Amino acid sequence: MSKPRQAQNEEPKLPPVWQQVQTAIWLIGLAILFWQGWIFPGILVLVAISGLTQALMFAYVKRQQNAQALETAREVNLPPTCANCGGPITKQSVRWTGSHTATCPYCGAALKLTDQPLATSSGAPR
Ligand SMILES: [Zn+2]
Repeated sequence: MSKPRQAQNEEPKLPPVWQQVQTAIWLIGLAILFWQGWIFPGILVLVAISGLTQALMFAYVKRQQNAQALETAREVNLPPTCANCGGPITKQSVRWTGSHTATCPYCGAALKLTDQPLATSSGAPR
């Protein structure tokens, strides 16, 4: 018996709202199945729908968390002013060219972010 709960990658926990959505899907689905007298093949469809929505929810939650983490990292590592023209840099005004690269909105110079966020510490200096 293995315990998959102790995975090294921590799975995002679904908020209670999503669990209620799952419950609603099952209740409504079962009601329709009983109403239509379509229990046997129908239950398989319901299981498929439930699994699919769960996967979609996980993907959505994970995506949101990643986006939030990236946003925070960007904000933290953004220099306050442009090194080239001295213009004030904000995360709203800056033009993002990549997840960790940006250009100055005034002069178009590439900005150097102060740190590499979300990077692994494998490339440690000697
Ligand atoms: Zn500039």
